[in-house]
Amino acid sequence: ETRAKAGDKVVLVRIETSPDDIHGMHAAEGILTARGGMTSHAAVVARGMGKCCVVGATALLFDDDAASCSAGDITVNEGDWLTVDGTSGRILLGQVATVEPELGDDFHLLMSWADEIRTMRVRANADTPSDAAAAREFGAEGIGLCRTEHMFFEGDRIQAMREMILAQTADDRRRALDKLLPMQRADFEGIFRAMDGFPVTVRLVDPPLHEFLPRTAEEIDLFAEKAAISSALVTRIVEKHRESNPMLGHRGVRLGITYPEITEMQTRAIFEAAAAVAADGVKVRPEIMVPLVVDANELARQREVITRIASEVLGKVDIPYMVGTMIELPRAALLAGEIAQHAEFFSFGTNDLTQTTFGISRDDAATFLPRYVELGILDDDPFQVLDRDGVGQLVQMATWEGRSHRSDLKVGICGEHGGDPRSIEFFHETGLDYVSCSPFRVPIARLAAAQAALRNGASTRKVAEKRVHRAESRDAESTLVRASPSPA
Ligand code: PEP
Ligand code: MG
Repeated sequence: ETRAKAGDKVVLVRIETSPDDIHGMHAAEGILTARGGMTSHAAVVARGMGKCCVVGATALLFDDDAASCSAGDITVNEGDWLTVDGTSGRILLGQVATVEPELGDDFHLLMSWADEIRTMRVRANADTPSDAAAAREFGAEGIGLCRTEHMFFEGDRIQAMREMILAQTADDRRRALDKLLPMQRADFEGIFRAMDGFPVTVRLVDPPLHEFLPRTAEEIDLFAEKAAISSALVTRIVEKHRESNPMLGHRGVRLGITYPEITEMQTRAIFEAAAAVAADGVKVRPEIMVPLVVDANELARQREVITRIASEVLGKVDIPYMVGTMIELPRAALLAGEIAQHAEFFSFGTNDLTQTTFGISRDDAATFLPRYVELGILDDDPFQVLDRDGVGQLVQMATWEGRSHRSDLKVGICGEHGGDPRSIEFFHETGLDYVSCSPFRVPIARLAAAQAALRNGASTRKVAEKRVHRAESRDAESTLVRASPSPA
């Protein structure tokens, strides 16, 4: 961050990233990690930012003291030039010349054809007002996933978040949450304004709390000083929260069950923001999404908190909203019918659903999964292309079960597969209402959704007729389109 502020172009090189690397990630031109896979923290966050990123470069060895890393007999020191190619996964020594891609008229014409053909909606995963604005530029029709936890790392917010986690009583926790409320509200307002009438799915906080806590002795001292408590106490509580498991612990809805005041604060922030922008004439459609549910009772309890706070905040103001859940654990998929009785929408979290169906940790897969693909044991990395045979069965079954208990259930997907063309074809075939992916993958998703519609029955003749009709109503473009018999 310091180097970037000084005007240097920086590649962030880490064993792996965690949420507190967010400032470095913002500052970096590109990101390189030794661990991780398609859905690890670095990959997901970099994809959202539209940054080039290579993860799972397992050959890299780090020497922190020397501020260097090596692969075989090549050593790279802090300050050396590197070029990262996020498409091929290559890391090149030195500085390679690059060009900014431009989205010209041809691009917009092609996208307009795709939009007329596709039947699935395309939303974006976006956590900030500026990401939401970028998503709209790329043609997103709403936000399918706003990961609210990402908001807690901006500026000084992490201090209040840590005070909330380390609070010993519910009152102390509420005091810390009160500091976070206006910040979340301001973010939601910005996102609602950027989306201007399109639906926005806001996910309540999801990661295990230890991800937010200070790690090193220096960080602990700094936090303790600002919070006016002893470092020894902070260290003890940090230890108490530490978990070692592949994201299977105290996270998702489990946080809302044990600390309902977190759900209250987030719901309050969402509806206060919604009411504020609605008062300015902006149409707003919030969808509140509860993560990591495994049982209908969990959702029923959270729903009670959400609807109570909504009516407290909104009073007589009429803002249509929905409460729904992610389906991202096998048990939730199996019990989707019961869960649908408390959910107006489902969104498949195929990152966690893949991790838990395969029993493969998202962050540790890089050490063996590529070999599985090389040997042909698996056709593809299942975190990249949805595994139709296993995970896909759960998606189909949960969609069917959910809709058979609630016929108007809205069903989408917000895992990383939402931006993968082959997976998008499967979601189209399964009858999903929308896919949601990072803003930069929205155009690909729009095109893939149209191709899926064509392959699965949209009559090519009808589409061709539509196209000629469109072309005739355009001047310059019409000659071009009619001259090429099959531009698709
Ligand atoms: C998922 O699990 O697919 C998902 C979208 O949530 P996250 O990646 O934040 O766990
Ligand atoms: Mg998840």
